[in-house]
Amino acid sequence: MKALAILGSTGSIGVSTLEIVAAHPGRFRVVALTAGRNLALLEQQVRAFRPQWVAVADAADAAALKARLGSLAPCILSGRDGLLACAADSGAQLVVSAIVGAAGLEPTLAAIEAGIDVALANKETLVAAGNLVMAAVETRGVNLFPVDSEHSAIFQSLAGHRKHDVRRLILTASGGPFRDRSADELTRVSPAEALAHPNWTMGRKITIDSATMMNKGLEVIEAHWLFDLPADKIAVHIHPESIVHSMVEYVDGAVIAQLGIPDMKTPIALALSWPERLSLDLPPLDLCRLGRLHFSEPDTHRFPCLALAYRALHCGGTAPAVLNAANEVAVEAFLDHRLGFTAIPKLIAAVLDQHPVGPADHLAAVLTADAGARTLASTLLASASGGFR
Ligand code: NAD
Ligand code: MG
Repeated sequence: MKALAILGSTGSIGVSTLEIVAAHPGRFRVVALTAGRNLALLEQQVRAFRPQWVAVADAADAAALKARLGSLAPCILSGRDGLLACAADSGAQLVVSAIVGAAGLEPTLAAIEAGIDVALANKETLVAAGNLVMAAVETRGVNLFPVDSEHSAIFQSLAGHRKHDVRRLILTASGGPFRDRSADELTRVSPAEALAHPNWTMGRKITIDSATMMNKGLEVIEAHWLFDLPADKIAVHIHPESIVHSMVEYVDGAVIAQLGIPDMKTPIALALSWPERLSLDLPPLDLCRLGRLHFSEPDTHRFPCLALAYRALHCGGTAPAVLNAANEVAVEAFLDHRLGFTAIPKLIAAVLDQHPVGPADHLAAVLTADAGARTLASTLLASASGGFR
């Protein structure tokens, strides 16, 4: 039985991961679960999966959970140290990194540095600190299995091929709920509309990222680090049906793609069991019923976030960490009705313009850039002269 630690177990990816575990008795043992604030769901998960280790964001919640679980309570930790202990010291053979945002960076890195394989959903980890993470993966000789559906598709499409035969990667993007909205209409979209993604059910932050197309921008940076290819070899196609999950084009013109219905269980299960495939109870892909699949170029005029991510990747160093932090602040402000939808890229661009960029050669430099960019974004947001409200 593979021992799993699931970081972010109460989120969309965490819950799907536990459903796969429950559907394959005897395959996995859950040794650690961590969550932010959803104690009610975490309590149910602890009762069902009986991990030895649990971590929550704050100490008061840890005490509350302990009281709720009574004699069933495992070792319940809190804060950053608790999260790091669950990632690195819980005896896991595979850590599922499914916290949202840059908060996932340190525990993911801790798992890798402890020599533990990682199933990576938390793309912000690679965006903020790709070179550090990939260097640690190399030094420790661990496996980093992509959970993001596009990267899982590329991982599968690369298997059995030589890397230097790759001409480019083609990431597909649904285009989100506002794919066909005019620039003018986009100025008026609400958080509720942005949270209604046409194809995927996901956490709130990634759903907004999908609507702005920052999600695809973050994924371009993620692909750069995972597959060691420069930005000009990573293209994006809009594909509204979300059936072709991504493609690899080879030097002889062959294009290899991975297809499937849009359900994160497929890439999660593969990351849990690679190179084996677990049987999943999902509806089959029926291409005949679908009839047509569509592809088009992304429009970076209406969706500037994608271009901002390429810009940060070209700039290098701490620029992607700055981009990511500014985006996290902007998304939260949009969800709180403090920032308009089309002001999200404006705020991020202003932070990229103003925040200094340095080498991202150690963790402290990345964390400092992340914190500095958050402060700058919040200051710009608060200042009336910034014009972001
Ligand atoms: P979510 O918001 O549904 O869940 C996030 C989880 O992280 C929750 O368990 C939450 O309690 C925990 N968490 C949040 N902030 C935390 C903090 N500061 N400290 C500790 N724990 C914290 O998010 P999600 O949709 O499951 O996405 C998780 C990650 O996977 C994101 O990086 C996202 O980009 C990536 N991802 C998600 C999907 C998807 O379909 N949901 C697909 C591809 C990639
Ligand atoms: Mg994705």
